Amino acid sequence: MNKGQKFSVWFFLGALVATWLFSEYIYKPYAERQGEVSYSEFLEDLDKNIIENVDISETRITYALKEGAASPDKRPIIGGVIFSNKKTKPQGNIKSVVRLDDPDLIMKLSNSDIKFGGIAQRDTILDLLMGILLPLLPLLILWYFMFRNISGAGGGGGIGGIFSFGRSRAKELQGELTGVHFSDIGGAGEAEVELREIIDFLKDPKRFDKFGAKLPRGVLLVGPPGTGKTLLAKATAGEAGVPFFFITGSSFVEMFVGVGAARVRDLFDQAKKKAPCIIFMDEIDAIGQSRMNVYNGNSEQENTLNQLLAEMDGFEENDGIVIMGATNRPEILDQALMRPGRFDRQIQVVLPTEEGREEILKIHTKKVPLAQEVNLREIAKVTPGFSGADLANIANEAALLAARRKADSVSTNDFDLAIERVVAGLQRKTPLTPEIRKKVAYHETGHALVACYLPGSDPVHKVSIIPTTKGALGYTMQMPTEDQYLVTENELKTRMAVMLGGRAAELLVFDEPTTGASNDLERATETARRMVIEFGMSKKLGPVRYAAPTMMYLGGAVQIREDAGEATAEKIDAEIKRLVTEAQEQASNILKEHEKVLHEVAETLQKKEVINSDEIQAIVNKEKRSEE
Ligand code: ATP
Repeated sequence: MNKGQKFSVWFFLGALVATWLFSEYIYKPYAERQGEVSYSEFLEDLDKNIIENVDISETRITYALKEGAASPDKRPIIGGVIFSNKKTKPQGNIKSVVRLDDPDLIMKLSNSDIKFGGIAQRDTILDLLMGILLPLLPLLILWYFMFRNISGAGGGGGIGGIFSFGRSRAKELQGELTGVHFSDIGGAGEAEVELREIIDFLKDPKRFDKFGAKLPRGVLLVGPPGTGKTLLAKATAGEAGVPFFFITGSSFVEMFVGVGAARVRDLFDQAKKKAPCIIFMDEIDAIGQSRMNVYNGNSEQENTLNQLLAEMDGFEENDGIVIMGATNRPEILDQALMRPGRFDRQIQVVLPTEEGREEILKIHTKKVPLAQEVNLREIAKVTPGFSGADLANIANEAALLAARRKADSVSTNDFDLAIERVVAGLQRKTPLTPEIRKKVAYHETGHALVACYLPGSDPVHKVSIIPTTKGALGYTMQMPTEDQYLVTENELKTRMAVMLGGRAAELLVFDEPTTGASNDLERATETARRMVIEFGMSKKLGPVRYAAPTMMYLGGAVQIREDAGEATAEKIDAEIKRLVTEAQEQASNILKEHEKVLHEVAETLQKKEVINSDEIQAIVNKEKRSEE
């Protein structure tokens, strides 16, 4: 039995004894006093022959009046059970009197038709159970469900849930059973090389001992969501053939003080018994958040973190335990967690390159029958910025589409639709009214044409005016041609002009803006804001960073640093406005220049609902030829 368990059992037993003492010595005497009468009244009732039965104990006499002879029962009731002897009638008026030394009483009772008997203070175990446990039953049931909820589904669904309070919820899997190997992971070249060293160590820790070499105790995997961090940790355990303990940071965080720390202790106790092994903590930022960042000092989180730090220091270097952590937010982690001897090695798990994406697609289509014409490299080409999880999702969606078509194999078109689904959401069936369709068609054509005419923008892949489940009334899909590691100022301006192409078209054709551009405006403003405060791309403000620290991998709006003055904030706003306005003017000029193409593409779009890049290009080329 571990510490956590002992704590819970004692807590449970203590509560039970306290409740029993309370009921026996405080509540019961109180309840009995409620119906108490004087001995003379008892004798009077006896003479009037209105008593139905009498129970005599060593100190008290309890009696019940015949029906109709009594006022309503005033005794309190707890948990549905009246606090009196089981032999008395559960209803009617019960009275109680202190027993006096009255030798004639038994004679009197014998001569009447009253049923009477004696009761021992506690005669049977059943009495004890009925008297104590039964009133407590509703309370116990409530308690059980409360505990089960708190310890969560992972805490064990049965009665064990009550006792597993302080136990860690690390699911222990044998390394071999993770069944994951590096061959199941695509595009993880660099991370794999670094992890190989850990695997060698886990396979034969003594070899490292001989050289006095100390291996990193903790390895932190950092990178955007869905890039395969969990998968890499599992593969490390799988390759080394050691047990793998998996736990998420958030499951340490409980509402009860001390539980998180107890769980950390328990996790390490378990792991020490199974060494060599890997402990993997996903979302480690949930407990490893910098103590400086925690508003008002969340002492529970701090206790848990302190316990983790202590445990990481507590085992010997070559004990054979490797702790792996994963996070999308390395910037908020406590520095103490990163110092040598703890998570001293960081491995960046980045978004896959084109080659990596092809490998990932190959892995996820291993069991999928692909049509001859499917070229995974081509799919990898049009999916820059997609994570491993996105690609796995695309492979699955494509297979689902093929299955729904009742086809024998998955075609290129299934993959195209799957990509669209992931990017834009499912198509919605509700048709738009002709006026709205027209507005949406011009709006989307606006985006597409600005992208076509502005050099350096990502090529347009498809334009659609079928509403999607993600809330868009239409969408223009652009596909970058290569992975972008660096973006220039001009490219950012081009992107903004494309974003504002929709609004520019609305103004040009209908002379009136619509709400359809709200998301475009949001994205354009955010781009401009980042140019000014994060990338130092405004001459007026200079090469100064005014942005507050951002989340490296999770995106989100960039905020201005709190210590920036009011005058600076005003300048920033003016610069953002200038950049966005210039981008809209640029878009507007392009559309004015090619207004004929705008009308023709928008009309085609209204007829066909979806047009691809070739169809747009054909109309653009036609205009070019007529001008020549
Ligand atoms: P998060 O940060 O959101 O926890 P993660 O980086 O831990 O994400 P995983 O949970 O490892 O990501 O990946 C989710 C799924 O995506 C995996 O189960 C796998 O199917 C797929 N996947 C991600 N990356 C790869 C990869 N490099 N190769 C093959 N499959 C991958």
